[in-house]
Amino acid sequence: MVDPLILFGWRLEQDGLAHGTSGNLSRRVPGDRFRITPSGMAYRHLTDADLVEIELPSGRPVAGTRRPSSEWRLHQALYLRRSDVQAVVHVHAPYSTVLACLGRSIPPLHYVIARLGDAIPLVPYATFGTQALADAAAEGIGEAQAILLQNHGLVAVGRSLAEAYQHALDAEWLATLYYRSLAVGEPIQLSTPELDRVRQALAHYGQADHRTPGRRPPAR
Ligand code: 13P
Ligand code: ZN
Repeated sequence: MVDPLILFGWRLEQDGLAHGTSGNLSRRVPGDRFRITPSGMAYRHLTDADLVEIELPSGRPVAGTRRPSSEWRLHQALYLRRSDVQAVVHVHAPYSTVLACLGRSIPPLHYVIARLGDAIPLVPYATFGTQALADAAAEGIGEAQAILLQNHGLVAVGRSLAEAYQHALDAEWLATLYYRSLAVGEPIQLSTPELDRVRQALAHYGQADHRTPGRRPPAR
């Protein structure tokens, strides 16, 4: 069986989330560890043998022969901070990255953001692959399902890899919407009580027996 990290990795380019070898994916696996994509390899060539396993909380590589993603500390920090996080998707998706370069967080301009939190926070810049970036992300994410890394890109988390991937798609769609809104003016923002109402409505949205993959009722 092909690991879901490989299957979602293959989709990144066609979904407009990946640029070159940028970004990385991971998921928790049994035995207090997470499995992560290797550093600097084209997604379309990846196989299960390229994945690396890292022990939690130590950060010690325990399986695999490749060098792990340079962002393994970022993934480690999110797993250690949030027990609900089962998977992490980091990408340099174009519109999210534009906003990250402008130093803008994404405000609640559309109700779809309720699945991700009250906003998509912006985490201050730190060099890629550093503990400083990992610490800033773990600090800045709060209860949100996605964050922007200033001058860098997007990180999404979820209760499964499918959900984390869907959160990355949602965040990039919201980033596109925000960018286009800003071209004309300042978008109207939804209130926190309204976002709570949306979360209640989303919990019953759609067909109970026909959920979109990666879709589950929002956590809050
Ligand atoms: P890796 O290829 O090492 O995973 O790094 C890509 C990246 O996005 C660094 O921030
Ligand atoms: Zn990156």
